[in-house]
Amino acid sequence: MNEFALIDRFFRRDNRDPAVRLPIGDDAAIVAPAPGCELAISVDMLVEGRHFLPDVDPELLGHKALAVNLSDLAAMGATPRWALLGGALPAADEAWLAAFTRGLFALADRFGVSLIGGDTTRGPRNLCVTIIGELPAGTAITRAGAQAGDDVYVSGTLGDAMLALAALSGRTADDAIALRSRLERPEPRVGLGQRLRGVATAALDVSDGLTGDLGHILAASKVGADVELAAIPCSPPLAQRLAGNERDLVLACVLAGGDDYELCFTAPVAARARVAGIAREAGVPVSRIGTITAAPGLRIRDERGASIAPPRAFDHFAA
Ligand code: ADP
Ligand code: MG
Repeated sequence: MNEFALIDRFFRRDNRDPAVRLPIGDDAAIVAPAPGCELAISVDMLVEGRHFLPDVDPELLGHKALAVNLSDLAAMGATPRWALLGGALPAADEAWLAAFTRGLFALADRFGVSLIGGDTTRGPRNLCVTIIGELPAGTAITRAGAQAGDDVYVSGTLGDAMLALAALSGRTADDAIALRSRLERPEPRVGLGQRLRGVATAALDVSDGLTGDLGHILAASKVGADVELAAIPCSPPLAQRLAGNERDLVLACVLAGGDDYELCFTAPVAARARVAGIAREAGVPVSRIGTITAAPGLRIRDERGASIAPPRAFDHFAA
């Protein structure tokens, strides 16, 4: 199968989006954004051996390649619309491509996202999705708006993806393997993010661990925060281990575990009822974990009020 047959067979589908004026097949796609909207644009790359193992289920990889991008748009409050896929593949493996695109398009269809272009080349496996979303002009939720006194929230539960990885690699008991879908099939919080427009003062998605990611909000907003460990939502396998003899692992998962793709956001105290209503509407639990302070720095306190040194966040280039 040559490159163009491969694109035709696996990536090109009927265009059902009237805003896509020119779909896959020309030198560039043409889209018409809705009047009064701005575009939110982001790209994320998944590299074999770094972000996924060679034997990963390709359907899950197709899901995740798009999910991590949708998560970035969720954090901005944007509505995802269009995606482009840059792919390096070691071979035109039809079974692999069929499964990969099944995972990718299933998620794309759930969120009304059209694949409008890409690039395909032979090489070590590497998948790079560019996502484009729409926002009413001026309404994006950035990292820079947190104010002293605001509440700090997170959605869902934190640390599950890293605990599942620890269980899969034999570093903790098998019961945590039940959390593996959190690692392999992250659910982007798109509906929550959209509803937080005009309510949240700052937001991001937790991809590299809470302390590092919340640190980005604090730096961009020039504020600090007090966070209560006991208020950070975690699922039963983590909660059980926190009380037992795996406390260090739990702290690493909850505070520095990547790949959770939950939203961390701030909102004024006056918006508490509104945030609770939004969480109900979006069908995603949110928890209040702390407070933004004028004093810089992130202070985390344990169940007894003692301060905890934050574990280091993931950094591809850390020495
Ligand atoms: P060009 O040579 O102009 O870069 P290509 O031959 O690479 O164009 O691609 C032909 C068409 O197929 C373009 O519209 C491109 O956007 C699309 N395309 C290529 N690879 C992919 C892919 N993996 N997913 C979606 N569209 C793709
Ligand atoms: Mg090309």
